[in-house]
Amino acid sequence: MRFDVFSIFPQYLAPLELSLIGKARKDGLLELNVHELREFTTDKHRSVDDTPYGGGAGMVMKPEPWAQALESIIDTAAETKPTLIVPSPAGEVFNQALAYELAEQEHLVFACGRYEGIDERVLEWAEEHFTVRPISLGDYVLNGGEVAVLAMVEAIGRLLPGVVGNPESLVEESHADGLLEYPVYTKPSTWRERDVPDVLLSGNHAKIAKYRKEQSLRRTSARRPELIEQMDATNLSKAERNTLWELGYAVVDHKVARRAAPGSTPTQD
Ligand code: SAM
Repeated sequence: MRFDVFSIFPQYLAPLELSLIGKARKDGLLELNVHELREFTTDKHRSVDDTPYGGGAGMVMKPEPWAQALESIIDTAAETKPTLIVPSPAGEVFNQALAYELAEQEHLVFACGRYEGIDERVLEWAEEHFTVRPISLGDYVLNGGEVAVLAMVEAIGRLLPGVVGNPESLVEESHADGLLEYPVYTKPSTWRERDVPDVLLSGNHAKIAKYRKEQSLRRTSARRPELIEQMDATNLSKAERNTLWELGYAVVDHKVARRAAPGSTPTQD
């Protein structure tokens, strides 16, 4: 898979040389090129921004350097359009499902905005050559797109085959099945008078799996209840349904809905 990142601060992307993504690049599992946007300017000040039409605070990124930059990587012989990701607080919110979807692409291009963002006509023009996806890291405003790109490249890159040593670890983690991961523990079994739950020391894999699923439901209900109501309840065990009931939810038609009065005894199957 190929990633191209355009930014006026290419040094901001240096952490992508470290850890698992850095190793994956060295091992040839992914190609990642960082480009300096100012290389695509033609004036002596190498300017990339100008005042906004209509007035108002801040500056807007000029269209021409962006067009030159993006044109430099267009491969007219390619069968599919690359995906152009434009980090923006006004984009669709990035999540694990989107990370999986983007990990299927062959070529992702990231356009890091700064100031008040990129002239809107760049996104319209780019539709001719790219699949354009404005994507937000969350409902808050950053100074530039670089931090969002660091997060997205890491979340997408770790899903590529061979990047994470043990692929099993991708299956059991938060958001893989729509829930948050259960709590984890390591040695020693007693630390500052706090014991690891007995079941985790039992060696009984079925009991451990059951316990972890229950903990996952409890943690998700406490921290992110909206995820419980979005979950697919098709394959829930009776024990899992009972846990949900205890937490104040009922399973109806393979969907989970909040009950009016939590805590009472389950009456459904
Ligand atoms: N004026 C813009 C608005 O209100 O939508 C915000 C511009 S922000 C100061 C500058 C750049 O930071 C954006 O063009 C975008 O690249 C990046 N950015 C800011 N917040 C972001 C977020 N939540 N997710 C992704 N990128 C973000």
